[in-house]
Amino acid sequence: MKLALIAHDGKKDAMIALAGDFLPLLRRCQLMATGTTGTRLHAAHGLTIERMLSGPLGGDLQIGARLAVGDLDGVIFLRDPMTPQPHEPDINALVRACDVHDVPCATNVATARLLLTRWSSE
Ligand code: PGA
Repeated sequence: MKLALIAHDGKKDAMIALAGDFLPLLRRCQLMATGTTGTRLHAAHGLTIERMLSGPLGGDLQIGARLAVGDLDGVIFLRDPMTPQPHEPDINALVRACDVHDVPCATNVATARLLLTRWSSE
């Protein structure tokens, strides 16, 4: 399974905690992440992750491009709804690409837990 992991700054601690609860699954997956999220996840859990550019520099678009050619099975995208993001168009493009290609996309921890729990049992 190929998963992308992205967390805005206000959600990075939540992403680290979430990943810690699903390490057996995540170690079996091929992972990609935006730059800082990937660095944090590797430092915290030693996960092997293909790191894209940081989100504001185009990392969300890189992930969207991979998704559009069928290279991703799911996206965990912990967005911070309380903080304006300079790359809002890129964020919307990635979420739209998930909808266009019918790829599961969790944008909050509760949904992410449901997806990761399901995938852990497959
Ligand atoms: P980051 O990018 O992981 O490099 O912080 C995430 C984002 O802001 O979209």
